Amino acid sequence: MNFNVAVIPGDGIGPEIVNEARKVLDAVGAKYGHTFNYTEVLMGGVSIDAHGVPLTDEALATAKASDAVLLGAVGGRVGIDKWYELPPNLRPEAGLLAIRKGLGLFANLRPAYLYNELKAACPLKESVADAGFDMMVVRELTGGLYFGERKTEEVNGVMTAIDTLKYDENEIRRIAIKAFDIARKRSNKVISVDKANVLDSSRLWQKVVNEVAKDYPDVTLEHMLVDNCAMQLVKDPSQFDVILTENMFGDILSDEASMITGSIGMLSSASLAEGKFGLYEPSHGAAPDIAGKNIANPIATILSAAMMLRYSFDLDKEANAIEDAIKSLLADGYRTVDIMSEGMKQVSCSEMGDLICERV
Ligand code: NAD
Repeated sequence: MNFNVAVIPGDGIGPEIVNEARKVLDAVGAKYGHTFNYTEVLMGGVSIDAHGVPLTDEALATAKASDAVLLGAVGGRVGIDKWYELPPNLRPEAGLLAIRKGLGLFANLRPAYLYNELKAACPLKESVADAGFDMMVVRELTGGLYFGERKTEEVNGVMTAIDTLKYDENEIRRIAIKAFDIARKRSNKVISVDKANVLDSSRLWQKVVNEVAKDYPDVTLEHMLVDNCAMQLVKDPSQFDVILTENMFGDILSDEASMITGSIGMLSSASLAEGKFGLYEPSHGAAPDIAGKNIANPIATILSAAMMLRYSFDLDKEANAIEDAIKSLLADGYRTVDIMSEGMKQVSCSEMGDLICERV
C-alpha cells in the first residue's frame, strides 16, 4: 500500500530522531510491501528562520493533505535562542498549538510501557515494577476546563476567579469511541476515569461512556474516580489497559503514567482527529542540550511511527514488528546514553536506528 506522510523534523534533536524513524518506516515498507511518501514540512524555530512564523498556512495545508503526520520536536534554549525574543504567539512552540488546532486533533494517546530491561529506572517498589505494566492513556484534548469560559473579577470586594468545566455529549461520545476502538487493538479493557461523585460533567461522561460501551460487548468497562486512579497508578499499574478520561484529569494522569516508566527517551504519543488521521510525536522535547551530537535516543519517535502504522494505517503486524525489534535490542543490551547502565553496549542515535531496521 501507499501512504503519504507529512514529516516535521523541527528543531534540536528533531531532525536526527525523525531521520531514524523514516529509516525504520522504509525498512518496514521494504519487508511488507508498502511505500511511504514523505513531504517535509517546516515548523518551529526553523520555520521562524525561513518565514518569520512558526507555522505557515501552506505548511498546515500540506500536513492536512497527508494521511498522517510524523513530528520530531520544536523549540530551543529559552532565554538564549533569539526565537524567544519574539512575542509568545510567534515562538517555536506556538506552531504546536496551531497545528493541533488546525488538524482538529481531539484525542491524545500516551502509552506507558515498562520494559523488562529498564525496570531499574522505574521509581516504584521492586515488587510493583516486577509485575510490569502496559497502558494507554486516552485523553480528551479540546474540551473541559482548559477551554471553558473563564474570568477573574471582584465580587463584593473580593477577587474571584472562575473556570468552567463543560462537556457536551458529542464531545464525550467521540473520545469514548476512540478509546473503545483502541482497546480492541490491545487487551479489550477500558477504565473510564471521572469525578462523578461530585461533578455533573462527570455524571454525563459516565452516562455517555456506558451508552458507547453497549456497541463494544467484547470490551470490559469499569469506572474509576480520578483520586483513586492517581493512587492505583502507583499501587498497581498492571491493572490498567486503556484509561479514558477528560482533558485536565488526562493531563495529570498521563504525566504520572509516563513518570513511572522512568525513561523520557522511550515515550511515544499520538493525537488523533476524526477518522484515521493523526499526528505522531515523541513525548519529549527538542533537547537542544544534546542536538547535533548523534546521541539522542530515537526510540520514542520510532515507537510513535509504530503507533502511526497501527492507528492511522491499520498495519498492526508492521507496528508489532517495530515494537518487537526494540524489545529484542534492549534484551541484547543495546542502549543509547540516556538509558545506559553498567555492562550494556552503548550505541549512537543512528546506530540504534540501524539496529532496529535490521531486526524489523
Ligand atoms: P526536553 O524533553 O527537550 O529535554 C529534557 C531533558 O531530557 C534534557 O536533558 C534532554 O537532553 C533529555 N532528553 C529529551 N529527549 C531525549 C532523547 N530522545 N534522548 C536523550 N535525552 C533526551 O525538555 P526541555 O529541556 O524542557 O525543553 C527543550 C525544548 O523543547 C524547549 O524549547 C521546549 O519548549 C521544547 N519542547 C518541545 C516539545 C514538543 O515539541 N512537543 C515538548 C516539550 C518541550
